[in-house]
Amino acid sequence: MIRTNYSGSKCPKCQQSAFEMVEETPNNSNFILHFIRCTSCKTTVGVLEYFNIGDLVKRLMKKVDS
Ligand SMILES: [Zn+2]
Repeated sequence: MIRTNYSGSKCPKCQQSAFEMVEETPNNSNFILHFIRCTSCKTTVGVLEYFNIGDLVKRLMKKVDS
């Protein structure tokens, strides 16, 4: 896994620049989400959908085409 942070993004809490992605299901939610969080203090800086919607659409379009 590539660990280098080329963009220079920093954690708003501890100013570290290493992030990780973890699966999370928030309370009262049926959805699995991917949280992007700081590797050192675990502050969440972003949330992504578990499924890659872009890839899903691409594959659906291929099916529709054929
Ligand atoms: Zn942090």
